[in-house]
Amino acid sequence: MDSTNVLVVGAGPAGLALACGLREHDVPVRVIDQAAGPATTSRANILHGRGVEVLNRLGALGDLSDRAQHAISISYYVADKRLATVSFGKIEGKQLSALLVSQAEIEAVLRQRLAELGCNVEWGRELTGLAQQPDGVTATLQDGELHADYLAGCDGAHSTVRKLSGIDFPGVPLIDQWLLADVRVDWDLDRTGSSGWFHRDGLFFAMPMRSAENDTWRLMADVRPTDGEQPDVVDQLQQLLPERTGRTDAKIRDVAWTSTFRIHRRLADRYREGRVLLVGDAAHIHSPFGGQGMNTGIGDAENLAWKLALVAQGRADAALLDTYQAERRPLAEDVVRNTTANTKLMLADGPVARIVRDRLITPLVNLKVVQRRVTWIASQLWVTYRKGPLGSGKGPRPRPGDRVPDLDCRDDRGRPTRLHTELGGKWALLAPTATGLETLAPLGEHVVHLTPDQPRQESWLIRPDAHLAWRGTDQRALARWLDEFRSNGRTT
Ligand SMILES: Cc1cc2nc3c(=O)[nH]c(=O)nc-3n(C[C@H](O)[C@H](O)[C@H](O)COP(=O)(O)OP(=O)(O)OC[C@H]3O[C@@H](n4cnc5c(N)ncnc54)[C@H](O)[C@@H]3O)c2cc1C
Repeated sequence: MDSTNVLVVGAGPAGLALACGLREHDVPVRVIDQAAGPATTSRANILHGRGVEVLNRLGALGDLSDRAQHAISISYYVADKRLATVSFGKIEGKQLSALLVSQAEIEAVLRQRLAELGCNVEWGRELTGLAQQPDGVTATLQDGELHADYLAGCDGAHSTVRKLSGIDFPGVPLIDQWLLADVRVDWDLDRTGSSGWFHRDGLFFAMPMRSAENDTWRLMADVRPTDGEQPDVVDQLQQLLPERTGRTDAKIRDVAWTSTFRIHRRLADRYREGRVLLVGDAAHIHSPFGGQGMNTGIGDAENLAWKLALVAQGRADAALLDTYQAERRPLAEDVVRNTTANTKLMLADGPVARIVRDRLITPLVNLKVVQRRVTWIASQLWVTYRKGPLGSGKGPRPRPGDRVPDLDCRDDRGRPTRLHTELGGKWALLAPTATGLETLAPLGEHVVHLTPDQPRQESWLIRPDAHLAWRGTDQRALARWLDEFRSNGRTT
């Protein structure tokens, strides 16, 4: 039977990022997808700070930063009255500001990186069954069987892997029907930002999409589903456009793509079942308001990749895999809660809720301090695993579990470099001398010694995902930490 170390099911952003992360650690990987080829449909179009950072660490940012629009803003209106404009500002210079770029382009750079790392997606291969044994998982595909030591279900919201593993996905629908169309429109709407209109019957959004001629728009609106045959999406949007925006002159033409979808909020009750793990939309779905879905999935993938690499290579006990859920599920809970609250606020059910939205809450987002907060929250750069099994709530910051920002440092030959450039496939020992490297030998080849430009006595051990693992000066304490980390998947 065909076999591999890790089988990744699903070549969306989460599966591709996971596969790149595993390959960076030299883990043999196969990636299968039921689709005949890459998706060209229109989905996510904002990559927030954390997503930019992760792609960069994976060597998969490519030229996205040059191609994308950096200044991202959205203006909210009631008819032609502008209530507020939210601008997603710059973080850490321009490096980590959000990028307006399509999911299809992001997937393309990830696939390219994966190919460089020696793996290509196997298209047209659908997983239909799986069985776990003590030493691995047998996946049934439409065209045969494949055995893997571990299997990652990155197969999206309707995950077959999740269902076959008996993992519940509790939650509720939030919005019954959204209309979406990528089109050209005859109007003079400002293309430097997105626009959203609040109307008593619902919302209407117009987002500029990057295209060769730079003249495409994504239009979105919520509607009440009707019984019987559904009217054409574009016909409905053409009717809603003047009603909700007050722009009676705007005419939709040249339709590139349409879709309708429901919005649910759901969270898997666990992320691991034996040798099967869930990643991305397979584990959590929520409202697209705030553009968090793809970003959260890419973050899941980075968190899991180095842990699965250590376990698959026999360098750590399988208990380490439980830290993936312990660190990532609380974040998904936050994302589901916040996106639900934002969506309900925007939909404002009833006249009182509409007054609160239009006169109190929305104008507040004009304040610079609120905009900085919105940018920071959306970026996910604040994510910490301090409260998780590998973290610590005590001591000076950064504490174990905290994200370590990109720092100037020198490599083992004294050449200037940046911390995050060295991570991704590697751990970093940021220390005045390389003494601790020997202690870290059980982690394998993937550890680099870096000297910080800011002199300090302490050593910092930084995980491949840029979170602090350990800090201190005592090598014996580092050895004890490593022992517990590898054998129990926790630290004290
Ligand atoms: C309109 C819209 C706008 C959005 N905007 C944003 C945004 O701006 N920012 C953001 O972060 N997120 C956004 N999202 C969410 C984002 O698109 C998803 O969170 C993201 O696609 C999830 O990635 P994934 O890799 O987990 O799953 P998916 O992208 O769904 O990929 C799953 C893959 O698995 C494959 N697959 C499924 N079943 C099987 C099987 N049995 N066997 C083999 N292969 C299988 C599928 O073919 C697919 O390629 C938006 C979503 C929508 C609908």
